Amino acid sequence: MIEKRDFYINGQWVSPAKANDFSVVDPSTEEACAIISLGDQADTDAAVAAAKAAFPEWAFVDRSEKMALFKRLLEVYNDRAEEMAQAMSMEMGAPISMSRINQVGAGSWHLEGFLKAFETMSFERDFTATEKTLLEPIGVCALITPWNWPMNQVVLKAVPAIAVGCTTVLKPSEISPLSSVLFAEYMDEAGFPAGVFNMINGDGVGVGSQLSAHPDVDMVSFTGSSRAGKLISKSAADSLKRVSLELGGKGANIIFEDAGAKGVEYGASRCFRNSGQSCNAPTRMLVESSFYDEAVEIATRVANETKVGPASEEGQHIGPVVSEAQFDKIQGLIEIGVGEGRLTAGGLGRPDGLNRGFYVKPTVIADVTNDMTIAQEEVFGPVLAIMKFDTIDEAIAIANDTPYGLTNYIQTPDDEKRHYAARRLRSGMVETNGQGFAQGSPFGGYKQSGNGREGGLYGLEEFLEVKAVSGWTS
Ligand code: NAD
Repeated sequence: MIEKRDFYINGQWVSPAKANDFSVVDPSTEEACAIISLGDQADTDAAVAAAKAAFPEWAFVDRSEKMALFKRLLEVYNDRAEEMAQAMSMEMGAPISMSRINQVGAGSWHLEGFLKAFETMSFERDFTATEKTLLEPIGVCALITPWNWPMNQVVLKAVPAIAVGCTTVLKPSEISPLSSVLFAEYMDEAGFPAGVFNMINGDGVGVGSQLSAHPDVDMVSFTGSSRAGKLISKSAADSLKRVSLELGGKGANIIFEDAGAKGVEYGASRCFRNSGQSCNAPTRMLVESSFYDEAVEIATRVANETKVGPASEEGQHIGPVVSEAQFDKIQGLIEIGVGEGRLTAGGLGRPDGLNRGFYVKPTVIADVTNDMTIAQEEVFGPVLAIMKFDTIDEAIAIANDTPYGLTNYIQTPDDEKRHYAARRLRSGMVETNGQGFAQGSPFGGYKQSGNGREGGLYGLEEFLEVKAVSGWTS
C-alpha cells in the first residue's frame, strides 16, 4: 500500500496539521491502493502563507532563470515518465499504454508549448510615447484540478501561473492525488524556490472551499464540474478574487453524408476514449438524415468492437470509469437513455467477464432528440447519443441548444459548410474533420463550460494583471 500522507509546503514535505486518512481506490480492482491525508484549514493557511511570502521575490525573477527551471522540470518529468504513467493508470484507470502516451504525453506537450510561448512573450507594451502598459502576475493562485486528465490539467495551470511570476497552491482531485504528489517531487527536484509551488491534498468541501474563500488567494483556476464551478464562484465572491473556470461539456459532432464512414468511426471512438471521461468528448452525434441509418450501424459496430479491460493490461482498450459514484451515475443515465431512445449497443451492467472494477459497456443510444436527458446531461462515461438533422441550420441550432459550449465537431469535406457552421457554433473550440489542435492552442469554453483559456500564450495571459502607467519616459 502506497502511503503519501504529507503535503508539499514551502519547499518541504510536511505532515498534515491533523490526521485525516483517505483511501485512494484503484478503479480496475475496487481495492484501496494508497493512503493520503485530507488537509484542513491549518494546512490551507500554511500553504497560502508560503505562497504569499514567496510572491514578492518570485514576481521579479528573470525570465532566463525561470526558463532554466522549467527546462529542468521537463527533463525530470521525462526521466520519471514511467512512474507517472503507472500512478495515473492506478488512480484513475487509464490503460497503461494510453497513460504513457496520452496522459503523460499531454503534460510534457503542454509544458513544451508554454516554454515556446513564454520565451518570446512580452510583458510591457508602449501604449503612447509616455504611457506604458505593464503585464504583471496576479499573485497567489489556487489551482484546483479534476481526476480525468490529471497531469494535463496540473501542467495547464501550474506552469503558466509560475512562469509569469505567480506563486501557487495546488489541490488535485482527492480521487487522483498520486500523480500530483509526484509532480510536487519533480518541482522540488527541478529546484524551484520554496513557496513558489505548494501542494495539499483535500476534498472539495474542505481544502477546495477554503482556498476559494481565502482572503490571501488572488485567483482560483479551476477545472472540474459546472456544479463545483458555481460553488467556487460563490465562495470566491466575498473576496472578489478572479475565478477562471474550465467546466463540463456536451459536445455535438455534426456529420454530413459526404463525411462517409470515417467521420462516424472517428466520432464514436473519440466519444469512448478515456472511457468517455473527457470534458470535450463528442457525446451527441448529429447525423444528416440521408446518412442516419448507416451511421447508427457504424457507431454500433465501433461500440461493439471497443474492448474494455483493466488499466494494467497493455493494448488498445478502454479502462474502467473512475469510481463507484461515477459508475452509478452513468448506469442511472444509461437507464434513462434506454427509456428515451433506442439502445443499439452496450447498455446497463458490466461488460461480460468483468465482475469487479468500475467497467461500463460502450453504449450507443439512437433516435435521440435534443430535449431528452441523455442529450442534455453530461454523462462522463462511454455513452453516445445519436440524433438526425435535415439542414445545416437545424444542426447548428441543435448543437447550440445546451447550457454547455466547450467543443463542437464538424465532419464534411465541404469547406463552405464547415466554415459556415464553425462560425455559428457557440463553443470555445470547433474541431473539424478529426484534425487535432496545435500545441498552445487556446482551450476553454463558452456559456456554462467556463470562462478561462488554457495552453500557450492565452494560458499564460490568464494569470496576469494589466497595469497602466503614465509619465513613463526613458
Ligand atoms: P469535480 O467538480 O467534482 O471536482 C474537481 C475538483 O474540484 C476536485 O479537486 C474537487 O475536490 C474540487 N471540488 C469539488 N467541489 C468543490 C468545492 N465546492 N469547492 C472547491 N473545490 C471543489 O469534478 P470531477 O468529477 O473531478 O471532474 C469531472 C468534471 O470536470 C466534468 O464535469 C468534466 O467535464 C470537467 N472537466 C472539464 C475540463 C475543461 O477543461 N473544461 C477538463 C476536464 C474535466
